[in-house]
Amino acid sequence: MANCCRFWTASVLGVALLLVASRVFSQELNAPKRYEFSEEKMGVPTRLLFYASSDEKATVAAQAVWERFDELNSILSDWDPESEIIQACRAIESSGERVAVSDDLRRALLESRKYCELTRGAFDSTVSPIVKLWRRSRYFHERPPAKMLDAAKERVGLNVWNLDDDGLWAEKGVRFDVGGVAKGIALDEALRILNDHEITSALIDASGDLRIGDPPPDKDGWIVGVSSLGDEPAFYCELSNVGVATSGDANRYVEIDGVRYSHIIDPRTGEPLTSRCVATVLAPTATTADALASALCVLGPREAPEAFDEIRRQGVGNGELSPFDYILIEVADNPSGGEPDVETLASPRFCELFDAARKERTEALGTERRQ
Ligand code: ADP
Ligand code: MG
Repeated sequence: MANCCRFWTASVLGVALLLVASRVFSQELNAPKRYEFSEEKMGVPTRLLFYASSDEKATVAAQAVWERFDELNSILSDWDPESEIIQACRAIESSGERVAVSDDLRRALLESRKYCELTRGAFDSTVSPIVKLWRRSRYFHERPPAKMLDAAKERVGLNVWNLDDDGLWAEKGVRFDVGGVAKGIALDEALRILNDHEITSALIDASGDLRIGDPPPDKDGWIVGVSSLGDEPAFYCELSNVGVATSGDANRYVEIDGVRYSHIIDPRTGEPLTSRCVATVLAPTATTADALASALCVLGPREAPEAFDEIRRQGVGNGELSPFDYILIEVADNPSGGEPDVETLASPRFCELFDAARKERTEALGTERRQ
């Protein structure tokens, strides 16, 4: 009897162990796996990184995201002559009447208008006629003729267009370039679609502009390097549920008579930025981050503090007060020919991270030199 009891206990234990083992095994089988998909979208290399429970779920979700990117591009592109945004301007011009627009175009235009108001014109999607003149300059390596620049400036601003329930209206010659928010809108849409497919641990990367969802399983966040003017990121941070955008003239500029003209234009003057700058903004959505990163470069270290304080006070998302972080590094040529002036402007948290990283680098350099 005693032996039988021992055997019974042993077999119960055995079954229990087997059960535990099979549960751990099946949990491992069902544990979300990391997936990565890459394609060229909206003219830039784009990556989807996320955790999903099966290959099939991952592939279906990624396909849905790519299709949405293509759809948004066919609406918002200012390179594709067939895009809705270009066709809408043509239709207004030929009929002289208001035209109906899709929900996506409405959203892009309203977002653009909002950031134009918030940044007091530093961000303005009607900058297109000026952008086009300066794009031409890239080929001819000369400044646009002053008369053409003056005419283009007349077609920029908040009072040359409006949008109501009946549609869009714009003055003759007005053109939109919503490139400054389009990537952000697409990134926010990408995360929404992944969420609809029950994928929440995700990072979507459109060539450095990011939309980040929940952290990877068992992690506090995704590790992201914040750009600096050099090759190395200025510092790293662990992020989740945030939009990140970096703006700058690292590759997109033209040099005319020794002056470096950026692809970012100050819509208020019609002039491209001429100092080297890089700005990174963290905001509740990628759309906000995208617009504010460009605006930060335009405003520069002198105008940005007041403007960004005001934006922080007003809030950026649906009227809510939303916190955001930013850093702007600007290098201006020294008129007396010495070392260039480097100015850094950052929100308190980024200031701390930047200073800590600089201290670490200085110490490392010191150790290297002593060796
Ligand atoms: P970056 O990442 O350097 O900001 P983006 O691709 O986000 O570059 O934005 C560049 C787009 O914004 C281009 O389409 C450009 O024509 C447009 N743009 C340039 N200057 C401004 C501005 N001040 N306001 C709004 N859009 C701008
Ligand atoms: Mg941008």
